Amino acid sequence: MSEWSNWSGSVKAQPAQWAKPKTVAELSSLVRQANKVRVVGAGHSFMPLVHTDDTLISLADLEGKIEIAADRKTVWAPAGWSLDKLTEALWAEGLSMINQGDINPQSLAGASATGTHGTGAELGSISTQACGFRLMQADGSVIECGPDQQPDLYQAQRLSLGLLGIAIEIRIHVLPAYHLEERISRMRLDEVAERFDELAAATRHMEFFVFPYSDHVIFKTLHPAAPEGDYAGGEDIDESVFKLVCELGAVAKPMIPTLQRMLMRLSGSPSRRVGPAWKIFPSERTIRFEEMEYEMPRENGMPALRAAIAHIRTNRMPIAFPFEFRLTAADDIWMSPFHTGPGASVSFHQYAPMPWRSAFNEIEAIFRSAGGRPHWAKRHTLTTQDVYDLYPRTAEFLAVRQSVDPQGKFVNAHLSELFGIGAPRP
Ligand SMILES: Cc1cc2nc3c(=O)[nH]c(=O)nc-3n(C[C@H](O)[C@H](O)[C@H](O)COP(=O)(O)OP(=O)(O)OC[C@H]3O[C@@H](n4cnc5c(N)ncnc54)[C@H](O)[C@@H]3O)c2cc1C
Repeated sequence: MSEWSNWSGSVKAQPAQWAKPKTVAELSSLVRQANKVRVVGAGHSFMPLVHTDDTLISLADLEGKIEIAADRKTVWAPAGWSLDKLTEALWAEGLSMINQGDINPQSLAGASATGTHGTGAELGSISTQACGFRLMQADGSVIECGPDQQPDLYQAQRLSLGLLGIAIEIRIHVLPAYHLEERISRMRLDEVAERFDELAAATRHMEFFVFPYSDHVIFKTLHPAAPEGDYAGGEDIDESVFKLVCELGAVAKPMIPTLQRMLMRLSGSPSRRVGPAWKIFPSERTIRFEEMEYEMPRENGMPALRAAIAHIRTNRMPIAFPFEFRLTAADDIWMSPFHTGPGASVSFHQYAPMPWRSAFNEIEAIFRSAGGRPHWAKRHTLTTQDVYDLYPRTAEFLAVRQSVDPQGKFVNAHLSELFGIGAPRP
């Protein structure tokens, strides 16, 4: 029995069995024999979505390849592939994903199961890019679902937290391969707030990072561009000085405000690079952190961010990490935080070795009062009642779950409590 831990180190488990099947037949036999099953992608979720004492399965080694549709608009891809492997394979075929988040080690299945997203006012989460699933069910059989095939299962599976079976292959919408120009500069938060709509409309992707004790933000945009010769690589943010600031702040908490203002003074020079989309989207995130993120109506995003910053400053809270502010388009996915509402995404982080729970609770109250719904994979304290209140399609989602997995083979303790599985509806 070996210990499993998520990326940040805040969730640990001792699964009785940890398997990496190579074939679908092997996977099917494992699933048939198991009492309880959870699948792990890259283990990048902060909530205990993957946690199990029973059977843990990774699809990283499962056989598979991409199948491109004749019109080159969709691709069937192995669900256990990392986004890194997938986007490289797509690029070799002259294709790109529509949008990506900050990093690319996540599995396609893990990203789509949790509503993982990048930034872009007109662009939905990775769950919206998925348009078909080949799913292994509790009895080891495989079924396919899509908009016209088992439509209720498909609707529920688009953001399922892994409750409806094991995604073996996922069909995604893709675009012809494109390049991106990245620009990074330092701006005053006041100016970003004042010119927000103009700045958001100027490029396909816009986001910014802001330390709670600095009045400046690191402002980042991505926009499609013509290629410019060989791509030399590079990173959006140099983490070396930032790491030092985190380590110093963790031992000398009163220094955090000064350190953050100093770091922002050093981060003044604008930068620009152009490269293949699959290389420009992801960044290296080497400093371990814990994260909470709320998606809220776009007009509430900036006021909620400013209220959170004011709360931290007033209470002199030792927060070493910056907030991240992004935009995501509305969608129609039953359990998506962007369901029927365009979203500002505001992420609140803490350096992993520092205490985070009570600060997260305080900031969560501010985000909740701004009409926010949490990112399912990041820290939140929703109750079953909250889930029903925030998600009008919860009952339909759970009815589909009950129909495909009545014995709860794919349910773990966290998901059982969160959705009140097996308990009377609140
Ligand atoms: C450094 C870092 C950066 C991040 N950046 C972003 C970002 O930019 N945008 C964003 O929205 N989120 C971001 N996240 C959150 C991350 O994208 C999600 O936690 C995502 O779910 C992680 O994918 P994973 O493969 O690690 O999934 P895991 O955490 O391993 O699993 C997530 C869920 O998917 C289920 N699952 C996995 N594989 C399967 C399968 N084959 N079939 C059925 N269910 C399955 C699991 O059981 C679980 O419920 C970040 C997290 C970290 C640590």
